[in-house]
Amino acid sequence: MVQIQDSRAYHTISLPLDIPNVKVTQVQQNEWGDYIITVESTLKSTKCQYCERKLTKLHACGREIELRHLPILGRRVYIRLRPQQFKCPDCGNKMTTQTLDWYESNSPHTQAYDEYLMLSLVNSTVEDVSQKERVGYDAVEGAIGRCINTSVNWAEFTELSIIGIDEIALAKGRENFVALITTQQAAGRVAVLAVLPDRKKATVRQFLDSIPKQLRATMETACTDMWEGYVNAVTEFAAAHPEVSIQVVIDRYHVAKHYRDCVDKVRKRECRRLKKELSTADYQQITGAMWVVRKNNRDLTPDERTKLRRLFEYAPELKSAYTFREELTAIFERQLTKDQAIQRLLKWAGKVRQTALTCFDSFLTTLNNWLDPIANYFINRLNSGFVEGLNNKVKTLKRRCYGLLRVTTLFQRLYLDLEGYRLFA
Ligand SMILES: [Zn+2]
Repeated sequence: MVQIQDSRAYHTISLPLDIPNVKVTQVQQNEWGDYIITVESTLKSTKCQYCERKLTKLHACGREIELRHLPILGRRVYIRLRPQQFKCPDCGNKMTTQTLDWYESNSPHTQAYDEYLMLSLVNSTVEDVSQKERVGYDAVEGAIGRCINTSVNWAEFTELSIIGIDEIALAKGRENFVALITTQQAAGRVAVLAVLPDRKKATVRQFLDSIPKQLRATMETACTDMWEGYVNAVTEFAAAHPEVSIQVVIDRYHVAKHYRDCVDKVRKRECRRLKKELSTADYQQITGAMWVVRKNNRDLTPDERTKLRRLFEYAPELKSAYTFREELTAIFERQLTKDQAIQRLLKWAGKVRQTALTCFDSFLTTLNNWLDPIANYFINRLNSGFVEGLNNKVKTLKRRCYGLLRVTTLFQRLYLDLEGYRLFA
């Protein structure tokens, strides 16, 4: 128990310290109002660090250590302790210092305080937590190092039926990508498995090979972007391990992004053309509609439909491109078998080729090259929407931790953002 008095000693409250195997010998306040709680171990033995023999004869008390602990009434709290030292007669009287299981030796914090810092760090930054807690930047980083692994702990998983392979651009505009490997677990829980330093096939393959055998046997689907490195890594991995039977699904949203970008180029071009050709008054009438083009048809309000119709009267090519886009999205919305989907997609491509439209040219090539894994989507209709949600987390994390992200740090911080509340709340 810790006893705290008010300034005139009229009232006293007692708080449980919640630290096992100690007794409080003194509570003081320093000039900054911090509480300094001095404790003594009540354990009368320790194990020899060399031979593990139980030592009971106290030799001395070591130098006093001071550990930051959970705040009391908004005040900083420090626990002071002189660790007991024992000598082992079997090991030439070599000394062992008793450590108690609520702190790690060499840590300036109690474990409870480390965990408290982890909770504060969820969706926050080291800098921010450091300032609010009035604890050093390095001390917060040290706590991360003690609490969060830098790579996946496979023991936390019993199945990996769905994995996602995606990338994160670490710096804008530069070819500086890292690969993010995730899994969607039962009940929608998303977990990060790895942040890899690059997107190369060999790097991804090496990671996949590190998956324990019993988990490999549970793998069913890999949702990825259209990137040879990922797809070939998965294919080669499956070929190398007889227990692996995994299907590559090109993520529906990546496909959509590709063909939607094609239409967006037409939109921008037509926008520039109409600005030049139309009177200011006529152009004003349709400017709002340019943004409406980006929305899905089913989400439009009646007013937006009217605007869009007016725009399409001036821009028939855009109308055509937009209509093809919506038709393609409609195919992905339908409950089709894989074979039916392939037929529909090929038919769609054939219709596009019969028009004068060139905006889909690059997409038609992509569709041709990736048709099979794209159509795999229709088997279980899995998408890595979970990865998209995660990507938003990554984006904010990058903004929060600008310039500080090494792949191991990124793994730790993502892990903390995803699991922090579950583990430390
Ligand atoms: Zn010994």
